[in-house]
Amino acid sequence: MKAFDVIVNGGGLAGATLAVALARTGRRVAVIEATGRIASSQPSYDDRTLVINAASLNILCALELLPDTLTRMPVARIEVSRAGGFGHLVLEAKQFGRERFGAVIIARELGQVLLQALASTPGIASFCPDRLVSFKTDQSSVSVELASGTVLNAALLVGADGNHSAVRQLAGLPCQRHDYGESAMIFNIQARLAPTATAWERFTPQGPLALLPQSGGRLGVVWIDRSEAIAETLNWPDQHLLDKLVERLGQDFGGLSRPGKRACYPLVRQRTPWPVSQRVVVVGNAANAVHPVSAQGFNLGLRDVGGLVDVLNNQDDPGNEAALLRYARVRQDDQDSTVRYTDTLARAFTNPSRLARLMSGIGLAAHAAWPTLGARLAQAAMGFREPVCSLARESTSAAREQAA
Ligand SMILES: Cc1cc2nc3c(=O)[nH]c(=O)nc-3n(C[C@H](O)[C@H](O)[C@H](O)COP(=O)(O)OP(=O)(O)OC[C@H]3O[C@@H](n4cnc5c(N)ncnc54)[C@H](O)[C@@H]3O)c2cc1C
Repeated sequence: MKAFDVIVNGGGLAGATLAVALARTGRRVAVIEATGRIASSQPSYDDRTLVINAASLNILCALELLPDTLTRMPVARIEVSRAGGFGHLVLEAKQFGRERFGAVIIARELGQVLLQALASTPGIASFCPDRLVSFKTDQSSVSVELASGTVLNAALLVGADGNHSAVRQLAGLPCQRHDYGESAMIFNIQARLAPTATAWERFTPQGPLALLPQSGGRLGVVWIDRSEAIAETLNWPDQHLLDKLVERLGQDFGGLSRPGKRACYPLVRQRTPWPVSQRVVVVGNAANAVHPVSAQGFNLGLRDVGGLVDVLNNQDDPGNEAALLRYARVRQDDQDSTVRYTDTLARAFTNPSRLARLMSGIGLAAHAAWPTLGARLAQAAMGFREPVCSLARESTSAAREQAA
């Protein structure tokens, strides 16, 4: 039997980041990952364009996971609009004393950085490809059995194994799940006059549409619609897709061309109100999954990572009950409000009723007109939700500079 301080089940974006963070504090960490190590086959490390907010950039930077070689496109301006309705909001980072709200990073490229860090950080042992099949806990430890027959022992088991988390299910942690009946299709395009450092969120009757800056004048598109409609859209000829995109956007940025590969994701909301049990905790999508409408999912998962690192700091026994209870309490407000906030956005702006459309238009107009409302939205967009974890705090100017 192999002994560790912490076992992390799932080496995706959240699990790999947590493993590196805990190993950097001197913990012996085992990472179990079901998919092979090559980043191109890792489901968490795909072509998604992730908006990483300022707080999350600080976390990644403090963990030395933002090397110069990692392409990140700054987001200094956010433009929110509605097709066929009033209400238009522009947030400029400089209005809030900032150079940027965050940056866009391709999940696959961040995945490569994480794989290198998993391989080179002392104290991490990877069990990959392998998968957790069962575990047992008692007062002092948790014992995990893998599909290969290997048995691992530790003080704490962390489930970072995504939406269908085996850890969450085997621990019997209740999870509220809602299927939106919608899917997100992602692809990128070339824009002749691609504006720099701007992220667009456009609410249309079919669903939200986001455009995110990428390198080389390309834009990442996140196109959301009912799942049946997306199944058809995936097969549209390129020119038809571009025409429909311009129609939904209401502009063409001087000409759109060369759409890239399309991929699709069914959308669900998941909320695990109490993410801990004896010697077990779930983080990231294993605990809470949100609609991508305001780019919050991985950012929320990174705040779980930061919160857990803080709580386990200086604990002789990282799986002790008091520490896990503290983690659940410290993270509750942020998890609750982020899941609620994204759900409200996802429903309000696409609701076909006239009243809902009127209210969402008023909401946008109000945010545009009242600086305090706009400031609150900007603060949420930057991810500094109380209590801000140590890794996200801007205590070192060097950290901020590097994150930029
Ligand atoms: C279209 C789209 C756009 C998005 N855009 C953004 C954005 O702009 N900003 C943002 O913050 N978030 C965004 N998100 C959300 C973000 O992608 C997710 O929150 C994030 O990928 C979740 O990471 P995770 O590590 O928690 O889970 P996952 O990515 O699901 O990783 C789970 C890992 O666990 C492994 N695993 C599963 N079961 C087992 C098992 N039994 N044993 C061992 N290993 C196992 C899997 O192989 C996988 O590697 C977006 C999501 C979508 C769908």
